[in-house]
Amino acid sequence: MKITFFGAAREVTGSNSMIEVGGQKFLVDCGLHQGSPEIEKRNSEPLGYDHKAIAAVFVTHAHLDHVGRLPLLTKNGFAGKIYATKPTVELAQLILDDALNVMTYNNRKLKTPILYAESDIASVMSMFVGVEYGEEIVIPAKAGILKSRELDSRLRGNDTSGEVVVKFHDAGHIFGSAFIEIAGEGKRIVFSGDVGNVEVPILRDTEKLPGGLDALICESTYGNRLHESVHERQEVIENMIREGIERGGVVMIPSFSLERTQELLYELNDLIDRKKKLPRVPIFLDSPLAIDAIKVYEKYPEYYDAEAAKYFKAGDDLFNFPGLTLTHLREESMKINHTPGCKIIIAGAGMMNGGRIVFHALRYLSDPKNTLLIIGYQSAGTLGRKIVDGQRFVDILGERVEVRCKVKMVGALSAHGDQDKLLDWIGGGATTPKKVYLNHGDPVASEALAKRITEDLGVKATVVNVGLEVRV
Ligand SMILES: [Zn+2]
Repeated sequence: MKITFFGAAREVTGSNSMIEVGGQKFLVDCGLHQGSPEIEKRNSEPLGYDHKAIAAVFVTHAHLDHVGRLPLLTKNGFAGKIYATKPTVELAQLILDDALNVMTYNNRKLKTPILYAESDIASVMSMFVGVEYGEEIVIPAKAGILKSRELDSRLRGNDTSGEVVVKFHDAGHIFGSAFIEIAGEGKRIVFSGDVGNVEVPILRDTEKLPGGLDALICESTYGNRLHESVHERQEVIENMIREGIERGGVVMIPSFSLERTQELLYELNDLIDRKKKLPRVPIFLDSPLAIDAIKVYEKYPEYYDAEAAKYFKAGDDLFNFPGLTLTHLREESMKINHTPGCKIIIAGAGMMNGGRIVFHALRYLSDPKNTLLIIGYQSAGTLGRKIVDGQRFVDILGERVEVRCKVKMVGALSAHGDQDKLLDWIGGGATTPKKVYLNHGDPVASEALAKRITEDLGVKATVVNVGLEVRV
């Protein structure tokens, strides 16, 4: 079995790895490079292999840095199947459509390239095969698919049939996210995808790592960091929003449309409707992508954790409660301004580098009564980062705005596990993997995690480079 890394090596985006096993080539993820214009230029470069030679793609989850270049594969001749969990398939469609909209908009404004067309996304969608966690997917030596329930012996034995057996496990990172187990040629490996944080609402905890692994390819986004305690996350949200409401103004929450927004609604529903800990004020969810994603969450309640499942079974609508208004259309969004007094506005983009939050920021940043609640990581150069860094004046849509509102940050809502969580997970299976390869992290984060893995678990951990080939 051979693994080659084509992306997310010493960086956090552009996930793309190849596995050669049983005489066939497979990919895990095919994501977009995201960040500075320099980094994003790499999306226009060739992927580095013959697209037609790929038998199948396994997708860990629907984030753009894991699915964003799938349409480039189909555009350039890939004709195999793309396997992902059922929610991931549906979320991927929303994410790719949204990415195309953003590319089209940026092309008009900045002349940056549009990488693919709507028809390429349609091709991707037609190749998806939705799978369940724990389902065994058997790919015979030649292209095709066969499913069987009696493959455990093959998973463990020295198999020379050329078959490849693949299993998706719950990664607890975003809705439908998976880590992927791949067995063939008598070897067994796992690709972690992104590993979720602990005790995230709605999502189940990351499944235990299977024992007997010859290699684990693991993300390392927060390999050198520890999150603040997540146990009081709801209390932190409650206090911040209460303070904002007591100031009597508008509470703006820039939010990532997938996962973070749904988790926030879930917590607000709990705080306002069930526990009556916060007063009812008008709440607007002003993000078409987030609103569409809610429908996917509602369609797959079998993916909920025990608490969310309990509420769902009792007939509770997890993402709807008194006072909440969903504003899908632009006209509806513009009317939010007409609601007088205190209100909460949740809108994308999460780093305020575009999306509807920008219009609200333009209107409300300069009033000291208002609050801006930052709940996610803010990249350098984004409007969100400038405000967090304390810049007094910011330019929004060609206007200079003075930041006079209260700016608050919550750090406990990360979608990724921290160093402790990653170490617990890597060392928490029936046996520890024989080798660990770290991808999806800045070098300093990956190196720090590699050191801890070697010291604490006694396993050799290697930080991968683009182009690195590994034989298992
Ligand atoms: Zn992710």
